[in-house]
Amino acid sequence: MKPIYLDNNSTTAIHPQVREKMLPFLAEEYGNPSSTSNTLGQNAKQAVNEARENLADFLNCKVDEVVFTSCGTESCFFALVGAYLARPEKNHFIISAVEHPAVIEAAKFLMDNFKASITTIPVDKDGIIDVSQLENAICKSTNLISIMYANNETGIISPLSEIIAIAKKQNILVHTDATQGVGKALLSFDKLGVDYLSLSGHKFHAPKGIGALLIKKDAPWKTIIKGGGQEDGRRGGTEAVPYIAAIGEAARLAKVSLKQESISKCEELRDYFESKLIELFPSVFIQGKSTNRLPNTSNFSLKNTIASEIIEKLALEGLVISAGSACKSASLKPSHVLTAMGLTLTEAIASFRVSLNLETTKSEIDSALNIFQKVVENTIRNNEVELENSLQKVAKPNGI
Ligand code: PLP
Repeated sequence: MKPIYLDNNSTTAIHPQVREKMLPFLAEEYGNPSSTSNTLGQNAKQAVNEARENLADFLNCKVDEVVFTSCGTESCFFALVGAYLARPEKNHFIISAVEHPAVIEAAKFLMDNFKASITTIPVDKDGIIDVSQLENAICKSTNLISIMYANNETGIISPLSEIIAIAKKQNILVHTDATQGVGKALLSFDKLGVDYLSLSGHKFHAPKGIGALLIKKDAPWKTIIKGGGQEDGRRGGTEAVPYIAAIGEAARLAKVSLKQESISKCEELRDYFESKLIELFPSVFIQGKSTNRLPNTSNFSLKNTIASEIIEKLALEGLVISAGSACKSASLKPSHVLTAMGLTLTEAIASFRVSLNLETTKSEIDSALNIFQKVVENTIRNNEVELENSLQKVAKPNGI
């Protein structure tokens, strides 16, 4: 039986039209876009150009601002390291405490290998970055501020326009990791005003293994992958034509389906889910409920539960959601995002993430609530004694 899949912040299903678009480039259309003396190469080049146009059209940027990468992680790494290499005399970077490891680890890489210094800005209990602390952290050597568009665990949207206004006054570059925003919110690279934007195809119905970094036309940036001059010299290596064709098609489809109306419908469904959840479990606590969030994401803590255990039981019953904290080899690791928001370790490991897509239906939400209620009620009853023992194993969160 097909599971009810409410884990779309983790990854999304490949859209059938995206798969169709890829297939010729995995079969008879195997040309190299750099070898355009033959039809195969010309077709490959045309596919890459068309994908670039579609992505640029979807995100309102110029075609030559798009650099295809392998994933969101690479895009974030490229942004931070590329900004450093372009202005190595400026070796101070500002990030938030709730960034994805793609950004945290890129900053750490600069710190470990290039003696960069990193300031990590805290967030409040609603997951909102402390903008005045960010402003105070700026110094003469600040190169770049990297703040995510929306958080992958909670869906909380960052106050980017305020941050950009502060940065621009002082000639500081801004990168946003929009891996979770693209495909879920109406986004314009041009209007946003950041210098670099990272995204990943598998979060909006393209396959895993393709992403992009948008680089503003005049933003200083240097590549770390040199080679055959592909991507206008910004990322060497023969282009992943099937995957590039796929992300272009996913962008074209998203431009059609992602409208204010479909976004509001998704948000209503998420709010319906949360209101029913509160009826079933009055003590449930919803992260960032009153803040600006992605329309599809709900992150909540349920007292006396260990979410990572429960999600395995839910999967057996046909419901796929995520736990806020990973459970690895008998030790429970609380999420750095939730602990940064002030959740206790017990609350953090009791947190769940449900993430919808634009196609999610009310009947799927109703079935999900039924399964969730049944499994959680059984688990809470069976678990009270074990809970205390398991909590002893909780590890400290990591991050910088
Ligand atoms: N940034 C955020 C906010 C994410 O949610 C993810 C993936 O979950 C990434 C970066 C990394 O993207 P990828 O899986 O394409 O490397």
